[in-house]
Amino acid sequence: MAITQPLQLLAPLSGVLLPLDQVPDPVFSSRVIGDGVCIDPTSQTLCAPLSGVISNLQRSGHAVSITGEQGQQVLMHIGLDTVNLAGKGFTCLVEEGQQVSAGQPLIEFDADYLARHARSLLTLMLVVSGEAVTGLVSGSLLVELGQPVLQIEPACAEEGAKVEGAEAEALFSKPLILGNPQGLHARPAALLAQAAKGFAANICLHRRQDSANAKSLVSIMALQTVQGDVLQVSAAGADAERAIQVLVELLVSGCGEKISPAASSPEPVAARDESQETVLRGVCASPGSAVGQVLQVAERRLQISELAANPQQEREVLERALREAVRGLQQLRDNAPGEAQQEIFRAHQELLDDPSLLQQTEALIVTGKSAAFAWNSAIEVTAELFKGLGSTLLAERAVDLADVGQRVLKLILGVQEHALSLPDQAILIAEQLTPSQTASLDTAKVLGFATVGGGATSHVAILARALGLPAICGLSPRVLSLANGTRVLLDADRGELHTDPDPQRLQQLEALRQQQRLRQRQDLAQAAQPAVTRDGHHLEVTANIASLAEAEQAMSLGGEGVGLLRSEFLYQDRSHAPSPEEQAETYRAIAQALGPERNLVVRTLDVGGDKPLAYVPMDSEANPFLGLRGIRLCLERPELLREQFRAILASAGQARLHIMLPMVSQLAELRQARQLLDDEVRALGLEERPKLGIMIEVPSAALMADRFAPEVDFFSIGTNDLTQYTLAMDRDHPRLASQADSFHPSVLRLIARTVQAAHAHGKWVGVCGALASETLAVPLLLGLGVDELSVSVPLIPAIKARVRELDLSECQALAARIIDLEDAVQVREYLHKQQVAADSLVLEN
Ligand code: PEP
Ligand code: MG
Repeated sequence: MAITQPLQLLAPLSGVLLPLDQVPDPVFSSRVIGDGVCIDPTSQTLCAPLSGVISNLQRSGHAVSITGEQGQQVLMHIGLDTVNLAGKGFTCLVEEGQQVSAGQPLIEFDADYLARHARSLLTLMLVVSGEAVTGLVSGSLLVELGQPVLQIEPACAEEGAKVEGAEAEALFSKPLILGNPQGLHARPAALLAQAAKGFAANICLHRRQDSANAKSLVSIMALQTVQGDVLQVSAAGADAERAIQVLVELLVSGCGEKISPAASSPEPVAARDESQETVLRGVCASPGSAVGQVLQVAERRLQISELAANPQQEREVLERALREAVRGLQQLRDNAPGEAQQEIFRAHQELLDDPSLLQQTEALIVTGKSAAFAWNSAIEVTAELFKGLGSTLLAERAVDLADVGQRVLKLILGVQEHALSLPDQAILIAEQLTPSQTASLDTAKVLGFATVGGGATSHVAILARALGLPAICGLSPRVLSLANGTRVLLDADRGELHTDPDPQRLQQLEALRQQQRLRQRQDLAQAAQPAVTRDGHHLEVTANIASLAEAEQAMSLGGEGVGLLRSEFLYQDRSHAPSPEEQAETYRAIAQALGPERNLVVRTLDVGGDKPLAYVPMDSEANPFLGLRGIRLCLERPELLREQFRAILASAGQARLHIMLPMVSQLAELRQARQLLDDEVRALGLEERPKLGIMIEVPSAALMADRFAPEVDFFSIGTNDLTQYTLAMDRDHPRLASQADSFHPSVLRLIARTVQAAHAHGKWVGVCGALASETLAVPLLLGLGVDELSVSVPLIPAIKARVRELDLSECQALAARIIDLEDAVQVREYLHKQQVAADSLVLEN
């Protein structure tokens, strides 16, 4: 918008006014960011120099921008190098997007703290939208808060309006990793915007779904980038190519800031020229290996017009799109091969019905916005909200929301939903795949995938395992720059992606794959045989399930029972609690599928904190993994637990019923829950209570196993959570995925301790975390004395077969040696060597 009226800016603080040239920082004194004034403050509350909207508020609270009614953008920056204080000493009084009036307090700061910890208190007020300014006070003078100090002049005709490339196709740079320790804050952002302004092309900076006009300092700052972000530059127009080249170079070099090589790499290994490496390392999300060609999966941004003439028409367009989206999802749901996939699409359908999303969209349509703009804004705002709540589960929901949002947006815009054109033998590469993308992959053409985000225990990993697709997650973002068609080797078992696979290694792998196929056929043929070691020791191999279909599949694959029924599936992704009858019916059907001779271990509801239930109000928590989850939540809402106990008890006698409590960390929790269970057993007139056990997934429970053991019937070790709590590493953290490894000796020692305590009291111990599903871990767990492995359904035959190859006494000796190793890498290496030696023996025989 062209500025037609002069506008006076008020002093945002009281203090001594200095000309910009005297600021001891060239990025400000050179006016690269914009022209303006500097004040050495004597007051401690920064106030608005003009009326407008807060267009950016830096997370660290040291800088704020206001966009005036005619588009003027004014940046206030408190102190020099104050970004390094990471928010300490600042209290924000406003929020981004808020309308403020001239003189309104914006940020309070602790001048003493700043004086002691920052380079300087000098505060800048700069006009960053490019208009000329005139000073209203001359010389070095004391100014009072609210006194007019600067005038923004009306813009000369058309300056800055030559935006090229609105029609042209945009070119995109390869992704790059931001190395600046504080992200693109004012200083580096200013240099980038300045450089971008030197080109005629329309240039954007992208971070995931968000993008910013690269010529606007405020817009770049509003991206709130942080070190390690993956960025892309796009440009459209005659000089697009050159613009991308220059800006990428600038970004990579740190935009005038010092960046250490370690800082510019998301991996902890410093000073390594990644571009020369032909092996990228992540973690195994789903086992197996494949050779194929790269196909990068990236969503293209859609062109959306903001305004529309007729709100009624827009409403109709939106309704039509929503109806079509529901139909499309129903089709996907009907065609889904398994319940896990069906559930995902059902949850997506529910999102389309969400009243808050629809209200937000309508509120924008009423004001003259197009249906596409309104819907997209509602989705983006809600997704951001989810991401910002600090919960992994809600962050995952944000991915679902974006997924659904894009589906509807395409329908509104009439953009054909072209299926990915897949080459044969495709290895998909993506920053992150959504669960629904994963569930609908064409496994005839896709051989596997590799992603930057995600974790080995994430939803996507679980789906990949169900589809039998090898997958790696937690890779360096460099993987996003591999060209489509590049031949790669995805060695998920080792968590490696080879970008220039050695022909000899390929041959070896092909031979290995043939062996594996042969092995799978043999394992399957013998799946019904018990898992007995060569020296006659029986290890029970049961299944981890979350549905009746999985129970049936587990039985057909030789499962000797169910070691973990994750009952959450009955409760999640729905707006009402399941009725007691529905719950009872579900447990009964599963129990009947097993029959009276097999164990059915039903774990009580493990939700809360990071896994909220829509119909159970819960407070949001700063550390949901350390908050009210599992048994803690159920004991806070005993009615919920009583009702579940009653429903489980309805299947008594149909299978060998076991009830298991999740996340127990204190004896009192076990005793309280047992009391509730006993009450229900009595009320139903049952002769005895079913077996009652606890999960060992918190270090306190493992360390106190000797005290728990007399009071339980069994333990089952949840290595996923036990690892996260022992190593203090979020189980879904993409950068920690390779370190949050259940093979860590600390976790193994807790397992050993638990087994010892249980056996001393004649109780059995199972392992139901993902560690149990790794063939590599079988000799170790056997050697540690574990009595039962509850594993992912498709892996039952392989785990049973592995047990049959082993000798218990050898495994015991192996476990005793391994427990003394130093880290998970050593443990894995040791076990690999043992396995290779054992495999070659099997082949020789
Ligand atoms: C575990 O923590 O290992 C476990 C089996 O429970 P979940 O993965 O369901 O949290
Ligand atoms: Mg757990």
